[in-house]
Amino acid sequence: MKTIKMYINGRWVPSINEETIEVTNPSNGEIIATIPRGNANDIDDAVKAAKEAFASEAWRRVKPHERGYLLFVMAEKIRENRDELAELETMDVGKPLAQGYADIDAAIRYFEFYAGAADKLMGDTIPIQDGIIDYVVREPIGVTGHIIPWNYPIQIMSRSVAAAIATGNTVVVKSAEDTPMTAFKLTEFFAESDLSDGVFNHVTGYGYEAGAALSSHSLMNHITFTGSVETGTAIMKSAADNIVPVTLELGGKSPNIVFSDCDVEKAIDGVVKAITQNAGQTCSAGSRLLIESTFKDTFIEKIIHRFKQLTIGPGLENKDIGPILNETQFKRIQRYIELAKTEGEILFGGKEVVVEGSENGFYIEPTIIDNLKPDSKLAQEEIFGPVLSILTFDNEEEALQLANNTNYGLVTGIWSQDISRAHYLASRIDSGQVFINNYGAGGGIQMPFGGYKKSGFGREKGWMALYNYTQVKNVAIQYR
Ligand code: ADP
Repeated sequence: MKTIKMYINGRWVPSINEETIEVTNPSNGEIIATIPRGNANDIDDAVKAAKEAFASEAWRRVKPHERGYLLFVMAEKIRENRDELAELETMDVGKPLAQGYADIDAAIRYFEFYAGAADKLMGDTIPIQDGIIDYVVREPIGVTGHIIPWNYPIQIMSRSVAAAIATGNTVVVKSAEDTPMTAFKLTEFFAESDLSDGVFNHVTGYGYEAGAALSSHSLMNHITFTGSVETGTAIMKSAADNIVPVTLELGGKSPNIVFSDCDVEKAIDGVVKAITQNAGQTCSAGSRLLIESTFKDTFIEKIIHRFKQLTIGPGLENKDIGPILNETQFKRIQRYIELAKTEGEILFGGKEVVVEGSENGFYIEPTIIDNLKPDSKLAQEEIFGPVLSILTFDNEEEALQLANNTNYGLVTGIWSQDISRAHYLASRIDSGQVFINNYGAGGGIQMPFGGYKKSGFGREKGWMALYNYTQVKNVAIQYR
C-alpha cells in the first residue's frame, strides 16, 4: 500500500492534522493507498505558495518556449512510464487496461500540444488613429485551481494543468479523493522538473473540505472543474464571492441519433462504445439512443447481440466493461434501473454481476431501457453507468426536438449517409460538440470541448483552453 503525500511549495507534506483517507481499487475492493485529508489550512498553504510563486521574478522570467520545453519533458516522462501509469490508472479507476493506456496516451498528447502552444499565443495591434499604437496582450491570470474528477483523472488533470502552465500561471491541483494515484505520479514528475517551488502544487482531500476550501479561497484567480452540475453550481457560487472566473465541464445526457440510412456497422460500434467506455462513467457518454422508428427493431437487435458479447471483469484483466467506482455510484445506477421497471421496460441487462475472485467489486450488466417517455427521468438525468435509454423518432424534426429536449448539451452523434441532413441537424443542435458518423474522433485533444446549457461553459482542450488561463490587457501609446 502506498502512502501518498501532498506537494506544497516544493515539499512533500502530510495534512497538518495528519488525518488520512483510504483509496480503494474498485475492481476488488482492496485498499491501495492512503492520501492526506487536506483541510482549509493545507489548502491555504498551497494557494499562498502558488501566489508567491506567481509574483516571483523567477517564474516571470521563464520564457514561453522554456515553459514549453518543461511540458515536453513532462510528456517524455509520462511516455517513459507509460506501462506503470496505465496500470495505476486502471487499478485506481477500475477501467479496462486498454482504456488506461488510451488515457495515458491522451495525457502525453495534452502535454505535447500545450508545450508546442506555449510560445505561439500571439496578441493583436488595433488601428485607432495616426499617432497612437494600440496593442493587446494576453497575460497569465494568476493562481489557477484544478479540481479533478475520479473518472478520467490523468487526462483531465493533464489537459488543464498543461494549458495553465503553458500560459505562465501557477497551479494548485485537487485530485479526486477516490482516484489520486496518477495525479501523485505526475506530481513526482513535476517535482523532478526545473519548475521553481510553488509553481505546481498538489493537494488531496474530500471535495466538501479541500475542494471547497480551494474554490472559495480569496487568492484564487481561476477555477477549473469537471464533474456534476450540483458540485459545479456550488463551486461557481463560492468563486462568485471573489469574482473569480470558472471553467465548468459538467455532465451530459448525450444522444446518438441514428437514421435508417446509416452505415450500420459503424453506427453499432459507435453507439456501443459510447455507452460502455469506462462502464458508462463518462461525462460525454452516449447515454441516449434516438433511433428512426422504422429501423428500430433491426438496430436494437444488433446492439443486443453486441452487448451479449461484452465481457465484464477487473480492469487489469482488460475485459470490455470494468467495475463501477464504488458502492454509492453502484446503488445510484441500481436505483435508476429499478425506476426503469415503472418508467419503461428493461430490454437487456440491468442485473448485478458477481465476478469470481473479485466479489468486492461492483459490476453491472450493460443495460438497455426502452419505452420511455421523453420527459421521464431515465431520458433526462445522467445515470453514469452503462445504461442506454432508447427513444424513437419518425423524421428529422422529431429527432432534433428529442435531441435538444434535456438540460444538457455536451456531445451529439449523428449517424446518416445523407450529409445535407447531418449538416442541417448539426446546425440546430444545442451541443458543444457534434460528431457525424463517428463519436469522439478518437479523443480529439485539439478540439474545443465543453457544454451548452447545464453541461457547463468555457472550453477545455485545444487552442481555446489557453484563453481560460489568460486575461487580456490593452495598451494604447500616443507618440505624437
Ligand atoms: P461530482 O459528483 O461533481 O462528480 P465528485 O464528488 O465526483 O463530484 O467530485 C469531483 C471533484 O470535485 C473531486 O475532486 C471532489 O473532491 C470535488 N468536489 C466535490 N464536492 C466539492 C465541493 N463542494 N467544492 C469543491 N470541490 C468539490
